[in-house]
Amino acid sequence: MSVQQNLRDIKESLPASVKLVAITKTKSPEQIMEAYKAGHKVFGESKAQELLPKYEQLPGDIEWHMVGHLQSNKVKTIAPFVSLIHSVDKLKLLKVINKEGHKNKRVIPCLLQIHIAEESTKFGMDFQECCELLESESYRGMKNVSIMGLMGMATFTDNDEKVRSEFRRLKTYFDTIKQKYFPDDDRFSEISMGMSDDYMLAADEGSTMVRIGSAIFGKRPEN
Ligand SMILES: *Cc1c(COP(=O)(O)O)cnc(C)c1O
Repeated sequence: MSVQQNLRDIKESLPASVKLVAITKTKSPEQIMEAYKAGHKVFGESKAQELLPKYEQLPGDIEWHMVGHLQSNKVKTIAPFVSLIHSVDKLKLLKVINKEGHKNKRVIPCLLQIHIAEESTKFGMDFQECCELLESESYRGMKNVSIMGLMGMATFTDNDEKVRSEFRRLKTYFDTIKQKYFPDDDRFSEISMGMSDDYMLAADEGSTMVRIGSAIFGKRPEN
């Protein structure tokens, strides 16, 4: 299957309201250009050190998302151009993003990553930590970040019911946080959930943004 055909099939299967972020990790600029030429302009990377060179080499009208674990010392390399950081998992990281946003005279859109999976290896805050962040004085004083919603990754399993219940939990957290902290803020509207193996379940459970790599570009070497 071609990248172009894969993109078309995935877009056809998703509701029009769900945004597709094509995840390009380990993929070459040539492979990414296949998707770009098919009209796709929203891409994501899981490592800051791969995001920067791709941003520099590829067309300027691409919207670049950062979806993977982000270390504080890497924020400055992506702060000038990143469209959305999906993986804010600590107040400390958000502080650094805010500082770099200020230096770059911009407001950086962010999602808070919530831990919904069973595996302990997946990053993210629990619901309580997320509330504490939003209630902190430090967050309230930030002018150069904008929290647009939540992100989560489900457990890697064939058990669809388990995956579905984790996505449902993230949706419930989103609704609760929206009501409590962002009732009049239309920007808080995104739920980033769903990858190649589970995006249909995620869409079903209220995802507004799916992050899909291998189903578009083919399996990665480590898979
Ligand atoms: C790699 C990655 C994806 C995409 O994974 P696929 O299974 O290839 O679709 C999505 N989100 C994050 C955070 C990733 O690191």
